[in-house]
Amino acid sequence: MEDDSEPKSNPSSSRSDEAESKTNTHLQALRKISRARTRMIVCMLTLPVYMFVVWELLADQRNIGSIMLIYMAIWTVFAIDMASRRCPACGNQFFVKVVMLNLLSRRCRHCDLELGGIEASQEDSNDL
Ligand SMILES: [Zn+2]
Repeated sequence: MEDDSEPKSNPSSSRSDEAESKTNTHLQALRKISRARTRMIVCMLTLPVYMFVVWELLADQRNIGSIMLIYMAIWTVFAIDMASRRCPACGNQFFVKVVMLNLLSRRCRHCDLELGGIEASQEDSNDL
């Protein structure tokens, strides 16, 4: 019996698979970064609403302590989430250069990698 005919995997196809999955994780990372940025911007846009609600509650002589706490907590979570996002290209914090969080930047603060057309294709992404 000859058993030296073991099936050899095609090296060229596995190599292209690897490159493809690398690009996919790259895109996924960029999409997550983009989403974290969008969340933070949406959070900022709710600030006038929050101020209006607080104003109304104050006028009504109600306690605003818990609302303030919840709002601050949401902000903190989003800000930490955004600040901790790492660039898939260089591995540094995408939005943070030294201390400042640059919200509106669409580029990596370190290697200038752009978010590109990621936001446009956000709709069809199936998030888990
Ligand atoms: Zn980078």
